[in-house]
Amino acid sequence: MNASLPSYLNSEDVGPWGNYLSQVDRVAPHLGDFQHLLETLKRPRRILVVDVPIRLDNGTMAHFEGYRVQHNTSRGPGKGGVRFHPDVCLSEVMALSAWMSIKNAAMNLPFGGAKGGIRIDPKLYSRAELERVTRRYTSELGGFIGPQVDIPAPDVNTDAQVMAWMMDTYAMNQGANTTGVVTGKPVELGGSQGRKEATGMGVFFATRETLTRQGLQLDGCRVAVQGFGNVGSVAAKLLQAHGALIVALADHGGAIYQPNGIDLDVATEHHRAAGSVVGCPQCEAISADAFWNTPCDVLIPAALENQITEHNAMRIQAKVIVEGANGPTTTGADDLLEDMGVTIVPDVVANAGGVIVSYFEWVQDFASYFWTEDEVNQRLEHIMLGAFDAIWRLAQERGISLRTATFVIACERILRARQLRGLYP
Ligand code: NAD
Repeated sequence: MNASLPSYLNSEDVGPWGNYLSQVDRVAPHLGDFQHLLETLKRPRRILVVDVPIRLDNGTMAHFEGYRVQHNTSRGPGKGGVRFHPDVCLSEVMALSAWMSIKNAAMNLPFGGAKGGIRIDPKLYSRAELERVTRRYTSELGGFIGPQVDIPAPDVNTDAQVMAWMMDTYAMNQGANTTGVVTGKPVELGGSQGRKEATGMGVFFATRETLTRQGLQLDGCRVAVQGFGNVGSVAAKLLQAHGALIVALADHGGAIYQPNGIDLDVATEHHRAAGSVVGCPQCEAISADAFWNTPCDVLIPAALENQITEHNAMRIQAKVIVEGANGPTTTGADDLLEDMGVTIVPDVVANAGGVIVSYFEWVQDFASYFWTEDEVNQRLEHIMLGAFDAIWRLAQERGISLRTATFVIACERILRARQLRGLYP
C-alpha cells in the first residue's frame, strides 16, 4: 500500500494521479525547507462524488457519476474546468485538479486548483438532456462551488452554453445574480472578450519566447500542430501570421503535410465543410503515425493527453515542443526527449492563457466593468511573459528542465501560502 495515496484509491490503479505523484516526487529535492510540507500536495483537500439522475427524452431515467475535486486552496478559491467524457474517473479528476494548482501558482494567479467532470458521452444525448445533466450536477455541487469557493470553467466537451446553464442554476438556488461562479460564459452573460482565443494565444506567446531565447527566428520556422480545435487552430493562425510555416496538421481524422506551408484559410474552410483537415487541397495526406516524423522545428501537441510516448518520441525531429494540450507527453517520453536535447514548454505554462483570461473574467464580474479585447490581450501577454521569464531563468540557473522549474516555483508558492496560513485549528 502506497502511504501517499488516500485509501479510496487502489495503489495498483492510480492512473493520472500516479503520474502527478511522481512529478511531485521529482521536484522534492529542489524544495529545500518546504520539503516537510510536501504531503500537502499529495492529498486533495476535498473530493465530492455525486449521483446525477435525469429524466431522458424517452421518459426513462438515467444516472451519471459526477465529480468535483478541490486539490489545494491555500492561495485562493478553487479554479478549474468541468469535462463531460465517458472516461472521466476520480483519479483523472484528482490529477487534473492538482495540475490546476500548479498552473495557477506558476502564473501567480490568486487561485487554488480544482477540477470537475461527469462520466457521460455527450454525443449520445440531446441538448435538452445535457442541460438537465448540467443543472442537476450544479445543484448537487451546492455550496461546494461559489465565486469565493471554487469557480468552474469549460473543459473537454463543455462550452459557454454549459457555463450559462451552470451559472443560471447556481443563481436560481442562491436567489441572487452570481455571474462570478463560473468563467468561460457567453460575453452577453458576463463573459470576457478574448476568452475563446486565450489558450491558443498563450501557446503562441510561449513558442515565440522560447525561439527568441534560443536565438531562433519565428520567420520561416517550420511548425507541426496536432489538433485543429480551439487551441491548435488559434495557435497555428497566430504563428503563421508572424511568419511561421505550418508544415503539418493532425486531427482525429488523420494528418496532412505541406513543406511549403499549409494555407490555413483553405484548411479552415475545408475543416468546416468536411469536419477534418484531411483532404485539404494542395496538401499531402499522411498517416497519424507519420505525423510524428514530420521534418519541423517546433511541434505543438494540442489535442489529447498521452500522445507523445516512448514509441514515437525518438522519431520527433523538432527541437522545441510546446504543450498546448494537458498532459500530452508521458513521463518516459519526457525523459527521452530531454536526453535528445529537445526543449519542452510544459502544459502548465504553455496552455495557461485560458485560465489567465478566466481570472480576468472573474475580476470583471466582481467589478461589473468590462475590458476591451485589446486590454485583455495586453494583460494576458504581460502575465504570461512575466511567468515565462521567471521559469526560464530558474531552469538556466539550476540546470533543470522547464517542467521541473515550473513545479519548483509553483510548489514553493503553494507551500509558502500553506505555511503562512498555519494549521487550522
Ligand atoms: P477541441 O475539442 O476544440 O479540439 C481538439 C482537437 O483534437 C480536434 O481538432 C480533434 O480533431 C483533435 N483530436 C481528437 N482526437 C485526436 C486524435 N486521436 N489524434 C489527433 N487529433 C485528435 O479541444 P481544445 O479546446 O482545442 O483542447 C485541446 C487540448 O487543450 C485539450 O487537452 C485541452 O484539455 C487543452 N486545453 C484547452 C484549453 C481551452 O481553453 N480550450 C485550455 C487549457 C488546455
